[in-house]
Amino acid sequence: MALIVQKFGGSSVANKDRLFNVADIVTRTYAKGNKVIVVVSAQGDTTDDLIAKAKEVNEDASKREMDMLLTAGEQMSASLLAMAIEKLGYPVVSLLGWQAGFVTSTAYGSARIKRVEPDRMQKELDKKNIIVVTGFQGINRYDDMTTLGRGGSDTSAVAIAAAMHADLCQIYTDVEGVYTADPRKVKNAQKLEAISYDEMLELASLGAQVLNNRSVEMAKKYGIELEVLSSMTRKPGTIVKEAVKMEEMLISGVAKDEDVARVSIIGVPDRPGLAFKIFSKLAANNINVDIILQSVGRNGTKDISFTVSHSNLKPTIELLNTPYAEQLGANTVVYDENIAKVSVVGAGMESHPGTAAKMFEALFDANINIRMISTSEIKISVLIDRADADRAVSVIHERFFDKTQQH
Ligand code: ASP
Ligand code: MG
Repeated sequence: MALIVQKFGGSSVANKDRLFNVADIVTRTYAKGNKVIVVVSAQGDTTDDLIAKAKEVNEDASKREMDMLLTAGEQMSASLLAMAIEKLGYPVVSLLGWQAGFVTSTAYGSARIKRVEPDRMQKELDKKNIIVVTGFQGINRYDDMTTLGRGGSDTSAVAIAAAMHADLCQIYTDVEGVYTADPRKVKNAQKLEAISYDEMLELASLGAQVLNNRSVEMAKKYGIELEVLSSMTRKPGTIVKEAVKMEEMLISGVAKDEDVARVSIIGVPDRPGLAFKIFSKLAANNINVDIILQSVGRNGTKDISFTVSHSNLKPTIELLNTPYAEQLGANTVVYDENIAKVSVVGAGMESHPGTAAKMFEALFDANINIRMISTSEIKISVLIDRADADRAVSVIHERFFDKTQQH
């Protein structure tokens, strides 16, 4: 007998038929003799709809009242699912975040989970109940309801798995798992049997949003194995776990991120301390910088380029405006929004030289120009024109996956 946590996203519980589909998955798991704790998101677009409703009433509603409203979405889906499970004849109880023991920080709208007190859930398990818990929420030290930030239900599920020492944490969604590239766009994209936490984190931050990043970080910290799978097809999904030999896969995926803009400061004096000045100014304003490239100094000057997200472009340009650049002794600041970042991610590349060459060759053969490159132990990213991005993902994916790449 195992303790299994099953999380269902908004599309999996969107309507009556989907609710009964989920109730079927849950009760089959229970009927095999397992203890089951279910975590649900709000149905379909409920959270977006609630946000829109709030805006109609008050554009600047306080975060506290927003959380009071948004927590209702999960309350509805949890109770409805419990009713469906009751209807199938199984013992079940639904619990709000606070009833399930979720104690969070006070930050309304983006609360962190401080701990999950297990007593109530343990009692319900001892009574042989299936438990349905509202995802995405908890209670803070003022006894107010809080939410964990958009997509937070994944994190709720992992937190329960950690606190209750679950044997398995399944994240049911509307895709069948994690793929080597976006299956809607790349033919021959393959479902991965397994992927490491670190690779999953890289892919998620590159826009392959299957799991919320915080949930993967928490799963890594507590060593919780996750399975990402579809509630519709009932096929085995992708296991996310500590790096293992991963079938000797060289790379796990190719991803694209279009939310990037490049900023260049031209003609910076080639002296120590200037990079420090520029980037500490950005950091002090909470601007996250990604790829950084500094040209070789020539005639006493150099160029410094870096990327930021689109939402950070305007503030960056305002901070590093021409007067500021001139103060630094530089000429000017230019930027380019029409770029994209394409990356290959794979724990295997550490021990296999030649991954970068293979990627660059694929781009060269497709006549795609690389503007910037950055690498880490498990990732190689290139910055290219946005118009080339989809084609770049396809040709790189083809190069790594269509032949006999795995060895
Ligand atoms: N319902 C919340 C949202 O849409 C939480 C979640 O889905 O995980 O962000
Ligand atoms: Mg949702």
